[in-house]
Amino acid sequence: MYKIMKNNKASRDASCMDDFDKNSITTDQALKRIFNTISPITKSEIISIREGLNRILGENIKSQINVPSSRNSAMDGYAINKVDIPKEKTNVLKIIGKSLAGSPFIKPIKKGECVRIMTGAVMPHGADTVVIQEHVSISNTNTEIIIDKNTKPEANVRHAGEDISVGEIVLRKGKSLTPADIGLLASLGLSQISVIRRLKVAFFSTGNELRSIGEELTDGEIYDSNRYTLHAMLSRLNVEIIDLGVVKDNKNLLAKAFNEAGERADLLITSGGVSVGEADYVKDILSDHGDINFWKVAIKPGRPLIFGNLSNTLFFGLPGNPVSVMVTFYQFVQPAIKKLSGDISDLPLTIKVSSASKLKKKPGRVEFQRGIIEKDNNNKITVRKTGPQGSGILSSMSDANCFIVLPLDSKGVEPGDLVDVQIFNGII
Ligand code: AMP
Ligand code: MG
Repeated sequence: MYKIMKNNKASRDASCMDDFDKNSITTDQALKRIFNTISPITKSEIISIREGLNRILGENIKSQINVPSSRNSAMDGYAINKVDIPKEKTNVLKIIGKSLAGSPFIKPIKKGECVRIMTGAVMPHGADTVVIQEHVSISNTNTEIIIDKNTKPEANVRHAGEDISVGEIVLRKGKSLTPADIGLLASLGLSQISVIRRLKVAFFSTGNELRSIGEELTDGEIYDSNRYTLHAMLSRLNVEIIDLGVVKDNKNLLAKAFNEAGERADLLITSGGVSVGEADYVKDILSDHGDINFWKVAIKPGRPLIFGNLSNTLFFGLPGNPVSVMVTFYQFVQPAIKKLSGDISDLPLTIKVSSASKLKKKPGRVEFQRGIIEKDNNNKITVRKTGPQGSGILSSMSDANCFIVLPLDSKGVEPGDLVDVQIFNGII
């Protein structure tokens, strides 16, 4: 005899087909709970600036010097004194020498004199203006120049300390270092800096169907892509990566992997096994070995996200679908990593852009659709979706350059509606 299972909505857990789920918390609540749990690491270490990209500064950086260190020319031309600029017509000035970057002209200039000067060269004493070479006429003998009344006084001079002055705080503690920051540190003459120690982040994939790259696939098996995506996303954050491989859907093996991560890492990320399937053990193992802070967020894709901790190790159990992994990583794990490593930067910026696509959505979850932001034929910025939006379709992420963020209550979008967009990559 078979028992007939009734589809009783009130008594069963929400499935991935339902959008509203009374047991899910909102994305804002989830972020709040994550931030409330985390105390930033304070331990720092000294490193060379070349190793500094994406590291978090452990101290305020105060400049000991002026940048630039002296007044210099912003252009190739002639250094003059503004008193020699004629009120009417033109004036003739005698060239008394040359100032090149690294080889200054050391004598002062007097009235009626000028100095040939190149970009970056120190301004001679007595000069306060550079006339660019395209705006002067040179005598046949190459000894005099003619300037006219249109010469702009004090133009094309870069002043000492114009970029940075002595004593100024140039970079603040908690700043995640960019290529511009590394250059800035070099311009201050600093070769070493104090940064917060690197976070140790462990991860593993769960699933009996997963094969590692290099192995043959048999029926029903797939390659484990999540570990590679996670490795790449973590590499951008310059954390210490501990790859614990693939763990089968087996309680003993999972418990072993949890223990190892608990001993070695500040943060553990797993993928798969967090839903309500028969082989979804991650939540049980976490409650045995640590604490669950929340399970399930009103987000699509990625609802069955688990957050908690194993004594001193933070824990994120991400869903198995490859797009869910990326969405939940960027919305929750990355902000957590940043907070834990003392990074003071803001959450990703959201901007409003006109949608070129019709976007289907049901109320109940914040949805992160994958989009392409681009200029249309009229040079107007618009965004369109990448195509099918299933949580297993990783090419929807690969094709995208932004997330289109549709709020909880949204019932969909018509072409021309404004939508919130999070752009993936900035420059600098
Ligand atoms: P799960 O959350 O374990 O039920 O997995 C959900 C879906 O994601 C299933 O179709 C899995 O086969 C797939 N999946 C889980 N882990 C991975 C992985 N590491 N790489 C690629 N796909 C995965
Ligand atoms: Mg699984």
